[in-house]
Amino acid sequence: MATVCLSFDFDAFSGWLRDDGSNTPGNLSRGEFGDIGARRLLALLAEYRIPSTWFVPGHTIESFPGTAEAIVNAAHELAHHNYAHENPRALTEPEERRAIERGIAAIEQVTGAQPAGYRSPSWDVSHNTLRLLSEYGFEYDSSLMGNDFSPYRPRTGDVINAEGPARFGEKLPIVEMPVDWSLDDYPYFGLRWSTGLVGLRTPSQVGEVWRDEFDWMQSHVDGGIFTLTMHPQVIGRGARLTMLEGVIQHMQAQPGVVFRRMQDVARDWAEANP
Ligand SMILES: [Zn+2]
Repeated sequence: MATVCLSFDFDAFSGWLRDDGSNTPGNLSRGEFGDIGARRLLALLAEYRIPSTWFVPGHTIESFPGTAEAIVNAAHELAHHNYAHENPRALTEPEERRAIERGIAAIEQVTGAQPAGYRSPSWDVSHNTLRLLSEYGFEYDSSLMGNDFSPYRPRTGDVINAEGPARFGEKLPIVEMPVDWSLDDYPYFGLRWSTGLVGLRTPSQVGEVWRDEFDWMQSHVDGGIFTLTMHPQVIGRGARLTMLEGVIQHMQAQPGVVFRRMQDVARDWAEANP
């Protein structure tokens, strides 16, 4: 028995709004392509009858409301990704609260309900993030890498520095659905001159890594949860979509593999691990 969670970080323009000079018309057009990629992905998911999870900043929801509605109408999960892709590491606590609250409000406009899940932009969190998410009632976070194919409860108040051994803080009620850069399309395919990232890898190489990781989990982790992170503006191009379709077919051909939304998986795990 294995679970696959396909997740999509639909950043659109919000990934190009940093103060590092990225927000040029050319880069913003790359974000705009995310909307086309999102539509293609929704069609692919419908064809294979796969439920999935979409982490969408409030800025994207408000800029592409029709696509946000299409995600929800197809019974995919709409989850939190801050308002304008703010990196929590760079925020004061009041600023981080504002980004969280604006993101919640945008999601509530579409779904009528508070989101269950949160993923931090750039997978960076501040020392406050996990505590704040628990306070705001999130059921799960998907930003940390303290395990690979098994959820766990993250902590607050860790003291880890070079002065002595780690002192672990208290576990929080929120569930961590762990991620990894090797199961993310951005490092492989992304290109960002300002950071020196030049991915542009061959899709078949990436498909090989993802299939092999999945196969390892299948044979070594009973009840493992395979979370794949993708960005519509990155994965939404022809040859990459073909690769993703091949990976989906590979997984669906294995016995006992189910595709689920992350909120459903996190909820079941929390119930089984009170
Ligand atoms: Zn993002």
